[in-house]
Amino acid sequence: MSSIFSQIVAGEIPARVVYQDETTMAFLDANPLSPGHTLVIPKDEYERLNDVPADVATEFYDTIHRLVPAVEEAVDADASTVAFNNGEAAGQEVPHVHCHIVPRFSDDSGGP
Ligand code: 5GP
Repeated sequence: MSSIFSQIVAGEIPARVVYQDETTMAFLDANPLSPGHTLVIPKDEYERLNDVPADVATEFYDTIHRLVPAVEEAVDADASTVAFNNGEAAGQEVPHVHCHIVPRFSDDSGGP
């Protein structure tokens, strides 16, 4: 059984996709912590960060690096919290590595 994010990659369930290339994809979180909350994934399914091969990790980081300012600009955020829950005990619910980009505003009431 593939992860819910692999099903999004396959087009089997809908998502608000904001970016994709051959290796990575980004889409809006279904339960956003703030407007514009975006998830970035490698398209192939790896559970934890250390499972991601180095070449994919390079492209994954490059996508995150480019999307952080783009997401902030899209929602006129002042900053963003960029985070991974890496493993179940850390709160990872979807076992397909993903980076949260959570836009932050100077008047918001605290982090995720
Ligand atoms: P985690 O707790 O694993 O770090 O975060 C998983 C995130 O995936 C949560 O913020 C949750 O709202 C989001 N999520 C779970 N299922 C779906 C889905 O089917 N579609 C989208 N777009 N986001 C999802």
